[in-house]
Amino acid sequence: MSQVKAYGAQDKDADLKQIDIERREVKDKDVKIQITYCGVCHSDIHTVRNDWGGSKYPVVPGHEIIGKVVEVGNQVSNFKEGDLVGVGCMVDSCRECDPCKNDLEQFCENGMVGTYNGKDKHLGGHTFGGYSEMIVVEEHFVLSIPKNLDEKAVAPLLCAGITTYSPLRHWNVQEGDKVGVIGLGGLGHMGIKLAHAMGAKVVMITTSPKKAEDAKRLGADEVLISKDEEAMKKHANSFDFLLNTVPVKHDINPYLALLKIDATMVMVGAIEPLEPMHGGSLIMGRKRVAGSLIGGIKETQEMLDFCGEHNVVSDVEVIDMQNINDAYERVVNSDVKYRFVIDMESLRN
Ligand code: NAP
Ligand code: ZN
Ligand code: ZN
Repeated sequence: MSQVKAYGAQDKDADLKQIDIERREVKDKDVKIQITYCGVCHSDIHTVRNDWGGSKYPVVPGHEIIGKVVEVGNQVSNFKEGDLVGVGCMVDSCRECDPCKNDLEQFCENGMVGTYNGKDKHLGGHTFGGYSEMIVVEEHFVLSIPKNLDEKAVAPLLCAGITTYSPLRHWNVQEGDKVGVIGLGGLGHMGIKLAHAMGAKVVMITTSPKKAEDAKRLGADEVLISKDEEAMKKHANSFDFLLNTVPVKHDINPYLALLKIDATMVMVGAIEPLEPMHGGSLIMGRKRVAGSLIGGIKETQEMLDFCGEHNVVSDVEVIDMQNINDAYERVVNSDVKYRFVIDMESLRN
């Protein structure tokens, strides 16, 4: 075991502070990674603040991890010392159940192990995430990073990227489809970029008129202000697909009105009870609401390769570890452009 520096919260009302955590020794199939950058996902905040219940303390968040391989186990074949690699939201799963065998580790029937707040079978207790100097992860859950992409801007692809890529692919978004992305934060801005790269006509649906210019720069063809009832009426029954990234309980009925017949809105943001949905919102137009959780490891690599090919990365604001608590406040106030990424060198100093 080795002790490394990390940033964690001791309870749901506490600020994040520097703490020491243990990392296991490298086993046969393990890759030891010196973390260089880690993205800040809204899920980190939900977990620290116990918004979903069940958080285990101390919480050391972080599941958008980029780093350099510093050691590999005897049986590791895909990585070597010096490689630039990534780790996303999962660090383990049973690898034997049907979802695991079908590259859907995120739905492992025996429970996938989250990068943080998961059950740590090696050291006992729970897992600690990427707000730390170092992490040890089994090879299967380590991703290769395309060499042409900027290291710090690639970090958010490991969660925000795959969470938006996977539903766009699963629901078969095609060139020319009219796709609406709801909520311009970390996930939303990747949703715009990826849907645009897939050739869709992208409409950014936002509560923040001041983000309109940015949305267009990121690849949106049009911007729709969701509070503008007249504008919403003009877009009624016109979308082939909607990706909803809103992070809190909200009324989805106005968005359902935007879907074409048989079209689907996929929820990725609000993992909690929603405001009541009117049956008529679905019945009139045979509409669908669905959900999606990150993506499997194979699809995550496919997404990273797609981003390498299309030169897609995140728009990031790099911060020092010591500024994390301010960054959290800004994310909660929808004031992030468009993903905070922690420079982990600041923790080592
Ligand atoms: P974020 O950066 O905070 O972005 C969320 C955006 O939603 C905000 O910037 C804001 O955009 C909009 N919004 C906020 N409150 C709203 C409200 N009350 N009504 C309508 N729109 C609102 O968050 P994120 O990191 O993208 O994460 C989004 C959510 O996805 C979080 O809940 C996170 O936990 C979840 N998540 C899920 C998965 C998954 O696998 N399903 C993976 C990662 C994250 P505008 O200013 O443009 O309106
Ligand atoms: Zn995340
Ligand atoms: Zn499994």
